[in-house]
Amino acid sequence: MNSRTYKLALIGYGAANILFAGYAIHTLRINPCDILIVDPYHDGGALMRRWSHVVSNTTYGQFTTALTDLGIPLPAESRQLDPAKPTPLKVLVHQLLEAVSLPGARRVFARAHTIKWAADPAQWEISTPAGNFKAHFISFAPGAEPKCLQTAVPQIPLEHALAADTLRTYFTGATERPAAGTHVTVFGTAHSGILIVDALVRLGATVTLVYNTPVPFYYADEGAYDGVKQETAMIARAIQADGLAGHVDLIPYSESLKLHDSLNASRWTVCACGFETANMPVVVADAGELKCDKGIPYNPATGQIAPRLYGWGIAFPSCTTVDGRTYADVSIPSFAGHILRQADELRAALLYSS
Ligand SMILES: Cc1cc2nc3c(=O)[nH]c(=O)nc-3n(C[C@H](O)[C@H](O)[C@H](O)COP(=O)(O)OP(=O)(O)OC[C@H]3O[C@@H](n4cnc5c(N)ncnc54)[C@H](O)[C@@H]3O)c2cc1C
Repeated sequence: MNSRTYKLALIGYGAANILFAGYAIHTLRINPCDILIVDPYHDGGALMRRWSHVVSNTTYGQFTTALTDLGIPLPAESRQLDPAKPTPLKVLVHQLLEAVSLPGARRVFARAHTIKWAADPAQWEISTPAGNFKAHFISFAPGAEPKCLQTAVPQIPLEHALAADTLRTYFTGATERPAAGTHVTVFGTAHSGILIVDALVRLGATVTLVYNTPVPFYYADEGAYDGVKQETAMIARAIQADGLAGHVDLIPYSESLKLHDSLNASRWTVCACGFETANMPVVVADAGELKCDKGIPYNPATGQIAPRLYGWGIAFPSCTTVDGRTYADVSIPSFAGHILRQADELRAALLYSS
């Protein structure tokens, strides 16, 4: 065990904890030398590794507002981008990494295996294959995995379905439309599912697109909370109008016979229907190991998992209920809002650790 106790440990260093780090140093005035960061790569997380080429469903202006609200200075390049437009996600992650640099922070390149509360002295102990560490306060944002459905048909992983070049490799042949004559079932009609259907049809596939919501699409310009916008909304409207010239059949999940037929005809499925936590470290708090059938329990309103242990990001999102539907808030602006709503508690908890 390293003898030093860090004021703040960031476990997982994707978008959510980069935002938290920026808030900690710029607004809460934590010295970066008092920060420990545990992440296997420190590359910006899933936005860099898995979704970098995906066009965002948030505008650039929403991103810069999130940074400003947290007190993080905007990167120089920000003046060149149109605030009303979306950007590829790689732009956002590069800008996050530029805006939040932590000179002097201790970086550990590993996954945390165990996070354990020690009552005397009161601190968290973090064990990793690269050593064991101690911290007064933990901000925990380990990300999440796309959900997989048990369909009996092979699945194209979401990150490959969202990358045009990789998607091609799932269909043999070097022709311009290598998926011609191939049927694919896609689950999920939010931003990702719509982009994937469009890419599949461009490759020549026919698609059954399955939705599990009261209506197939929710549009931001019709006032829907977290609805699809801009180019994605145009594709969704074209799917509704004529199934992208007859290549897409849109069905509700409840149409079991149609779904059965589609799966029987499918070479591949794609699941673009949400995320779940996986491979979480063991968390042991005062009262013992924290676990429930959905992972580690936390309070979605506050992000708190245990005293001085907060969870953020896609693994521990806040939730919003509109017209009886509950949405998990998984975007950079909502991560920033979630952190900011706990400003008083965070300030008190981090000052306590001084
Ligand atoms: C297809 C797609 C499109 C999206 N589009 C947008 C968008 O347009 N706008 C927007 O604002 N948001 C968007 N998001 C949502 C969100 O910004 C991203 O999902 C973001 O990557 C979530 O950040 P995170 O920090 O919660 O998790 P991640 O980026 O997954 O980061 C988690 C980090 O924790 C590390 N880790 C995991 N386990 C451990 C461990 N045990 N110990 C230490 N480290 C660990 C991981 O290696 C990773 O580096 C999109 C998401 C997806 C999937």
